[in-house]
Amino acid sequence: DEKIKKDQSDAKSSNNTTTRAQFRWLIGQCRHELLYMSFAIIAIIVASGINLSIPFFVGKLIDSIQTLVKGKSELYLLVGTLGILVLFMSVFNGLRHYFIVITAERIVVRLRGELFRKVIEQDIAFFDVHKTGELMNRLSSDADVLRMTVTVNVETGIRCILDSIGCIVILVALSWKLLLIMLLVVPVVAVGAVIYLRFVGGLSRDVQDELATASEIAQETISNIRSVRSLAKENKQVRFYEDNINQAYNRAKHLTLAAASFTGGMMLAAGICILLVVAYGGTMVLNGELSTGQLTSFVLYSGFIAMSLSTGSGVYFEFLKALGATERVYSIITRIPTIPISHENKIVNPNDIVNHVISEDDSDEDEIDSTMRGELSFHDVSFSYPTRGEKKVLTDFNLDLIPGKVVALVGESGGGKSTCIQLLQRFYDPDSGYITLDGVDIKELDPTFLRKNIGVVSQEPFLFGTSVRENIKYAKDTVGDDQVFEAARQANAHQFIQQFPNGYDTLVGERGTQLSGGQKQRVAIAQAILKKPKILLLDEATSALDSESEHLVQMALERLMKGRTVLVIAHRLSTVKNADLVCVISKGRIVERGTHNELVKQNGMYKQLVEKQLLSEDSQSK
Ligand code: ADP
Repeated sequence: DEKIKKDQSDAKSSNNTTTRAQFRWLIGQCRHELLYMSFAIIAIIVASGINLSIPFFVGKLIDSIQTLVKGKSELYLLVGTLGILVLFMSVFNGLRHYFIVITAERIVVRLRGELFRKVIEQDIAFFDVHKTGELMNRLSSDADVLRMTVTVNVETGIRCILDSIGCIVILVALSWKLLLIMLLVVPVVAVGAVIYLRFVGGLSRDVQDELATASEIAQETISNIRSVRSLAKENKQVRFYEDNINQAYNRAKHLTLAAASFTGGMMLAAGICILLVVAYGGTMVLNGELSTGQLTSFVLYSGFIAMSLSTGSGVYFEFLKALGATERVYSIITRIPTIPISHENKIVNPNDIVNHVISEDDSDEDEIDSTMRGELSFHDVSFSYPTRGEKKVLTDFNLDLIPGKVVALVGESGGGKSTCIQLLQRFYDPDSGYITLDGVDIKELDPTFLRKNIGVVSQEPFLFGTSVRENIKYAKDTVGDDQVFEAARQANAHQFIQQFPNGYDTLVGERGTQLSGGQKQRVAIAQAILKKPKILLLDEATSALDSESEHLVQMALERLMKGRTVLVIAHRLSTVKNADLVCVISKGRIVERGTHNELVKQNGMYKQLVEKQLLSEDSQSK
């Protein structure tokens, strides 16, 4: 319950995180790019200045053509000046664009890197809640929206404001009377804009959210394509995806209708404005209050403002879009994992209690400490998964794992066996009770140290889509080929790897799909052999391997288990027969413990398991 409360308060505090804090964080992203930003700002100011001066000179030019008082020389001078201005205008607008976009790219590179680090440093409970597709979206589209926001949109926004202010100042100077006439339409436009923005704000965010959901569905379907195919649910997944896309489309349709009406309305307003200006300005010219050139400049500046305002309103929508993205990215960037991946000033070696920081470098040989005994114990551990707080998975669980001894866990599925393995690696912390390594609570240890001393061979080992060699070396990338071959030999993998056309350079395919179950397991065993952990956690495959493969895996495992602290989730009779202690788990408690022979005699749950063939005979014991 405490956990649920914590989650709720987490959610609340993230809701309460003010938009201002998010905004500050977002702008803070620019701090590393001050040099490029300064270049960009200089370019913006110069470019805006030049842009603003052009209509003025055009007006002058027209006046000089009309009056022709000062002759052709003034005309040529003005044309020359305009030519130089146009040249500078293009150069500075180009520079402005270059510096802004480069700044944007640099920011997004840093942001993605930081975001990815934050994501993979989160505790495992975080991944129970957040789907892969959702997190991929954070990294790709959200990061991209933010990139645009902090640079291009901010720049466009600033430029529009600068231009509009500049134009208004010039318009006042040209003719304040004419400006007042022009401003008559402003209240009408303002009311229209407010109504429009209200309508559109929520809608555009909904569209974003629906698109995000759709891409999560796509991601999930593609990564689980084998399950989808074998259940023949392709159509269902496609429909599911299309439903979301269509919903987004329907909203986008409303959004577009609104945007189209607004654009049309704005154009109408601009047209009326120009008409008013020309009509009133025309009379002023006739009355001699204004020159033709000045009127021309005035019309051009009015057009300039209209353009700035319409670009500015576009930027506003980009900001609305960015609000959602900022919130999502910010909540990850600022989330502090409940179990950090490593922490400073924590005990590194339980037998050598000193404050010490583990080096970042995996290559450090002495992290696997030979003075450690590798004794693990559960002390009255109770645990429920954070996502399902109400259901107790382990209750007052006690178990000792002793170096050199093999403990086998058996029991019906859902009893809590895999949970034990996860708690030992500190993927989660117990709700009550504690787990010790050589007598020290594992919460006191640096989690990285703990995990470096534990080897895990799971039912379905996960491999990366690289070569066999790279996969074996993943456990310890400083080793040379000789050590890789030796580990593969001990894991009974050398022979089959050599038979591949490319030997150790053979690519295993995404997630190792090109290897058989038994082959994958032997690669995982080779990894564990290289890692030389004090403690070994095994999850035996439930799926039957062919007997040849099974025998090879079994022999490799026996070699690997020698002299280590071993906990094995057993599915095979031969494993339990060889174990020093067998524990039967049911509903999160150990209900029977003893050796195979003792337990069979007890006539209890263990006997039933053997009889129901939940522990399968294997090639060795046949
Ligand atoms: P076993 O390994 O004995 O089959 P597990 O330890 O996998 O059992 O599961 C014990 C219980 O915990 C089951 O009810 C299972 O549904 C639940 N469980 C396992 N993993 C999670 C998880 N990540 N989030 C929520 N519940 C889980």
